[in-house]
Amino acid sequence: MRLIDLSSSIDASQWEPEPVSHEIVTPAEGAAHMAKEMREHFGLDFDTAELPDGELLSIDNMSLNTHTGTHIDAPSHYGSRAGYGDGRPRNIDELPLDWFHRPAFVLDFTGVEGPATLTADDIAKELARIGYQPQPMDIALLHTGADRFKGSQAFFTDFIGLDASATHFLLDLGIKVIGTDAFSLDAPFGHILRGYAATKDQGVLWPAHFIGRDREFCQIERLERLGDLPEPYGFTLSCLPVKIAGAGAGWTRAAAIFED
Ligand SMILES: [Zn+2]
Repeated sequence: MRLIDLSSSIDASQWEPEPVSHEIVTPAEGAAHMAKEMREHFGLDFDTAELPDGELLSIDNMSLNTHTGTHIDAPSHYGSRAGYGDGRPRNIDELPLDWFHRPAFVLDFTGVEGPATLTADDIAKELARIGYQPQPMDIALLHTGADRFKGSQAFFTDFIGLDASATHFLLDLGIKVIGTDAFSLDAPFGHILRGYAATKDQGVLWPAHFIGRDREFCQIERLERLGDLPEPYGFTLSCLPVKIAGAGAGWTRAAAIFED
């Protein structure tokens, strides 16, 4: 078995639209904290010098958006109403785990210059080129090459997304999870708003997300290294989301699994 890590890091040193704060409590600070708590709450005195190396354990205190790093968007991210089921969109902790451990295929759109939107025709042509017929519940991955802009503003402004026809095309195949290495499965905000100003067509407003108000599916955003996949299909993607109660998204450590 061979695993290929397709995840991007949550990295407080990198620029993000929503800043990440990451406070590391060192093992020595952890010891001092423990001694203080034990004294104050239990009246127990302990000399931290008696610990091996004078250290206890480290702790990471973080404040960050669920859309930082590689993550899964849940249906409740798309809006407060669902046009299916009981009308309530599910949160990330309520989705079936087996959606996130499935055969996957990757489509190469690295030749498309962003910002731009892909159509159903683009998807169909690329599927024909790789010679793969997707099966229901497969995970579709879009390799846009956006991760080459990682750490710069261009990562948030110059990527490519799906239009409504491309989104419906993938969902019509029975796909429930669509992944991208870009910041979003939709085109950049500026590209969408310029398109709307020119057409006044509501269908160009965040179609890859808003279609999720009527058709239940998830998306993986901010994948990395899709170019490292040696084959466009014939592997399993594991991308189990972190279980955050009531959240519209959850981080994932996505990896491709190739069996020997
Ligand atoms: Zn997201």
